[in-house]
Amino acid sequence: MPDAPARTRRDAPSDAKPLSAPQRALRKLGLSRPIDLALHLPLRYEDETQLVRLADARDGDTVQVEGEVTHQEIAYRPRRQLLVSLNDGSDTCTLRFFNFYPSHQKQMAVGQRIRARGELRGGFAGLTMMHPTVRAAGGALPQALTPVYPTVAGLPQPYLRKAVLAGLAEADLSETLAPEVLDQMGDWPLWDLRRSLSFLHQPLPDAVLAELEDRSHPAWLRLKAEELLAQQLSQLQARRAREHLRAPVLRAAAGGLPEQLLAALPFQLTAAQRRVAEEIARDLAREQPMHRLLQGDVGSGKTVVAALAACVAIEAGWQCALMAPTEILAQQHFAKLVGWLAPLLAARGQRVAWLTGGQKKKERAEMLAAVASGEAALVVGTHAVIQEQVRFARLGLAVIDEQHRFGVQQRLDLRNKLSESEQEPHLLMMSATPIPRTLAMSYYADLDVSTIDELPPGRTPVVTRLVSGHRRAEVLERIRAQIAQGRQVYWVCPLIEESEALDLRNATETHAELSEAFPGQMIGLLHSRMPPAEKRAVMALFTSGAMPVLVSTTVIEVGVDVPNASLMVIEHAERFGLSQLHQLRGRVGRGAAASACVLLYSAPEGGRLGETARERLKAMAETADGFEIARRDLEIRGPGEFLGARQSGAALLRFADLQQDAPLLQWARRAAPQLLDHHPELARRHLDRWLGGREGYLRA
Ligand code: ADP
Ligand code: MG
Repeated sequence: MPDAPARTRRDAPSDAKPLSAPQRALRKLGLSRPIDLALHLPLRYEDETQLVRLADARDGDTVQVEGEVTHQEIAYRPRRQLLVSLNDGSDTCTLRFFNFYPSHQKQMAVGQRIRARGELRGGFAGLTMMHPTVRAAGGALPQALTPVYPTVAGLPQPYLRKAVLAGLAEADLSETLAPEVLDQMGDWPLWDLRRSLSFLHQPLPDAVLAELEDRSHPAWLRLKAEELLAQQLSQLQARRAREHLRAPVLRAAAGGLPEQLLAALPFQLTAAQRRVAEEIARDLAREQPMHRLLQGDVGSGKTVVAALAACVAIEAGWQCALMAPTEILAQQHFAKLVGWLAPLLAARGQRVAWLTGGQKKKERAEMLAAVASGEAALVVGTHAVIQEQVRFARLGLAVIDEQHRFGVQQRLDLRNKLSESEQEPHLLMMSATPIPRTLAMSYYADLDVSTIDELPPGRTPVVTRLVSGHRRAEVLERIRAQIAQGRQVYWVCPLIEESEALDLRNATETHAELSEAFPGQMIGLLHSRMPPAEKRAVMALFTSGAMPVLVSTTVIEVGVDVPNASLMVIEHAERFGLSQLHQLRGRVGRGAAASACVLLYSAPEGGRLGETARERLKAMAETADGFEIARRDLEIRGPGEFLGARQSGAALLRFADLQQDAPLLQWARRAAPQLLDHHPELARRHLDRWLGGREGYLRA
C-alpha cells in the first residue's frame, strides 16, 4: 500500500474553483504556503548567461550555443531519432533527439537560427549534443545564473520560478532563533533567513556556482541549522506530550503467564533477552505509555521477547496486537506464538485472532467479533489490524515487528487509532536494522531503545562468498550437495517490475532452470504478485521441509525462520541494498548446521560493478555484525533512504546531512529545550514554518 501524504486541512475539498494543472502539481510537491515555496530550494543552477563558440568548447562541457540549422533528417539506426546540424560559424554540431514531435522539426527547420544548450560530446563523428534544450535564437541573455528547481510533470520551471519568488516575497521570514540560542552558534557565520534564501533563489549576476553549491556557506548553514532545530523541537514536543498521556499499568504476578511461557520454551533466554525483557516490563508497569524500540540483529530472538511482553499485558487483563509488514511474516508469528501461547491462553478461556487483508468474509467477521469481545487476547496480523472496522475491547499493548518496513503513514494510523480512548496502549517496535547513533539522536529522540546484543548460543557463523555470475554452475553443485544432506536452500532474485529491457533473470526463469537442474525435487516459487493463499501454501511446504529449494523475490526478506535452511543464494546481489542483503543472509545460520551465503553478482555488459555496489558486497563479505553493517549502510546511502523516507515520500531532512552536520545537530539538541521553555511563541512559529501540518511525520 503506497503511503499517502497526511491530509491537511488545506487539502480538503472546497467550493473554490478547480485548481489548474500547475497548481495541482504544486500541491503534489507539498508547496501550498508561501513559506513552503520559499523553502523549496534549487536543485542546481544553469549558466545561461553566455554563448560559447563551438570551436572553443571542450568535450563534456555543458554549453549554450547559437547558430543556424544547416541540415535535418530522421534516422532509423540504432533507433528512430531526429538529427539536426547546427553551425555557429566556428564549427558544426549534431543535435540528437530520440523523443521528438513535429513541432521540433518545425522549430529546427533548415535555415532557422536557434539557441541550444546541453552537454557537448566530441567523437569521431564530430561534436554532438543529446537532447539539448532548444529555443529560438536572439533575445537577451539572462544576467544571472538560472535556478533549476525539483519539480514534477505538469509544472514547468518558469511557472515554478515565479511561484517561488512570489512565495519568497510573501512568506514570514522573521527571526525565530532567540539571541541566546543564536549565540551558542559560536563563531559560525550564519546569515539571517531572508538573506540566505534570496542568495540561493536569486543569485546575483556575479554569483559563482561553486559558492552557491558549497553547503558550508553561511546561507546553507542557516537553512540546515533551522531545519535541524525544527526537527529537534518536534521530537521534544512529542516526548513531553507523551509524559502527559496515560496508559494501563501492566504487571504480571509471580507464577503468571510470563513465567508459564518461560517454563514452556524449549530454550533458556540469553542474558541480553532477559535484560531487554526487564526493560520492557519496567515500562509496562508505568502509567505513561511505553514507546520503545527493540533492536537486535536478525536471529537474535526478538519474537520471544515480544511474546513475553504480550504475556504481561494479557495477564494484566488487556489485549495485545502484533503487526508484521507481510502476510508471510504475520503467519509465522501466528504459528510460533500460537504454539507457545495458545495452550496457556486456552486454559484461561482465551484465544489468538488473525487479521489480514486476504481473509474470507466469514472468518474475518468471526475474528473481529473475538477482538471486540476481548476473547482474543492476542491479535496477530498485517496492517489489517489497524483498519477502521477493527475495534479492540481493551488494547493494552501493540507490537510492530520490522517497524522500518511500515510506511510512516501506517505507523501514524496505528498511533491515531490507539489514542481513541482516554488511555493509550503501550507501543513496542522491533527492528533488525540497528539505528546508528546520529540517527537515533536525530529521528528517534522520542523513542527509548533496547538492544539485544548477543545471539542465542550454538549458532555457527554464516560464511559469505562473492561469486561471479559466470560461475553459476558451481553454485548449482553446491545446492545439490545441500539437498543430498537433507538441507534446504533459498534462492533470491531481485524483482524488477515490468522492465524487460534490463538483463535480469527473473524468479520465474530461475525457478524453471532449477527445476530442470534438480529433477524429482520440489522447487518452490514465491513472488509478491501471488495470491496470499498460494504464498502461504508454498511457505508451509518449505517450512515443513518437504520443499528443498525455494526461489523467491524479496518477499522472504524479513523475519522468515526455517532453521534447516543452510544456504542462501542471492542473485544479482549488486542490486540489493546493504541492509537488505544482511536481512536476507540472516535467514540462514539459524540452526546448528554450518551455513553459507552466496552473493552472485554480474557487472553490466562489458563494464565493471559500480563503486557503491562494490562497497556493499565488500562490506557483506567482511562483516556479519548488524551494527557495523548499519553504520556502513548509512555511510553509503545517507539517512533518507536508510529510514525508508524515499518510499514514504516524506522528505525527512532536506538540507542537513547527519554525518557532515553532526555539530549542528548537537547545537539543535541543546537549543530546542531552551527555545521551547523560554520562548514558546518563537518555537511555535519555527515549527509552523518548517513543518506546517506535517509534524506527525517526524514523530511517527
Ligand atoms: P529475530 O530477532 O530475527 O526476530 P527470532 O525471534 O525469529 O529472531 O528468533 C530466531 C530463532 O531463534 C527462532 O527459531 C527462535 O525460536 C530461536 N531462539 C530465540 N531465542 C533463543 C534462545 N535464547 N536460545 C535458543 N534459541 C532461541
Ligand atoms: Mg523477527
